[in-house]
Amino acid sequence: MTNLFNLNILDLENYFLKNGEKKFKATQVFEWLYLHKEYDINNFSNLKIALREKMLQDFKINFIKIKKKESGSLVKKYLFELNDGNYVEAVLMEHDYGLSVCISSEVGCNMGCKFCESGRLKKVRNLETYEMVEQIILIENDIGQKIQSVVVMGIGEPFDNYDNVINFVKIINHPKGLAIGARHITISTCGLVPKIEEFSNLPLQVNLALSLHAPNDVIRNKIMPINKVYNISQVLTAIDNYIAKTNRRVTIEYVMLKGVNDTKDNAIELAKLLKGKNVYVNLIPYNETNNIEFQKSTNIKEFKDTLMSLGINATVRKEFGSGISAACGQLRSKEV
Ligand code: SAH
Repeated sequence: MTNLFNLNILDLENYFLKNGEKKFKATQVFEWLYLHKEYDINNFSNLKIALREKMLQDFKINFIKIKKKESGSLVKKYLFELNDGNYVEAVLMEHDYGLSVCISSEVGCNMGCKFCESGRLKKVRNLETYEMVEQIILIENDIGQKIQSVVVMGIGEPFDNYDNVINFVKIINHPKGLAIGARHITISTCGLVPKIEEFSNLPLQVNLALSLHAPNDVIRNKIMPINKVYNISQVLTAIDNYIAKTNRRVTIEYVMLKGVNDTKDNAIELAKLLKGKNVYVNLIPYNETNNIEFQKSTNIKEFKDTLMSLGINATVRKEFGSGISAACGQLRSKEV
């Protein structure tokens, strides 16, 4: 018995066709779930009772639960309890362009980035598609408003749970699903090269962000173990290929760590690395955690100015976090 929120519209169409029904019933089911927010299959009144009964045998709709909320100015953080007792978190942010949610894609993470709280606990399992879809539905229902954009930048490495994440994107992007425009969806990866290549071939206009965080392999090896598998040259080649195929601009994420990757020379080296590519750099002020090894850089503005003066587009990510447990995985860390 699978959760009904695991199915994209094509899966549902196939289900109905296989059961001798018309495929437009898939659209009707999507409308019940995503438009009318009706979560009891018994109440899908435009489907015959016999069909509802069949669906009740094949599908369940069980929700993850909001376990805790923390609010700050323009930000709300949610801790979710999954049906097996695991925890993940999501963050709702109010931007001037609308409401955005950052969701988790895995329970824990195996990438082991040294500065990141999420990786403190190894990956327990992938999230199923429904567990990602429900993070958004529960937040929309909690605030009574629609979400305009989604970033997959919470706990987990989305490309380490590729199939479920892509299925999730198809559901939230569908006009009869949560109808979140593909250009308003961003997936962030630490650089799993084969998956970046696979993603290049998808007919979806979703944004890609790469967590680069260093201008050379010496620094990146120290803070991101994945660099020993796919180094900077390999990952940037994959990004070049992605841009060539999709003609889409890529976001380069760069978390500013004091004394680690934040000098003027680092900025110059980064600019050289990225020169001529269709990318822009998003500088992330580090959210300090219990890990005293890393501190927030005080050099962010100078770093940005250096990049800009060398012709590299750069922005500084708005900080929402202070006052709440903003760093990804912090809320969960307190719980487990
Ligand atoms: N695994 C994916 C997505 C999750 S992390 C990835 O690596 O891209 C989302 C972003 O937040 C990544 O760029 C990550 O390196 C960064 N990050 C992790 N811990 C952080 C912290 N304490 N403060 C600021 N950014 C952090």
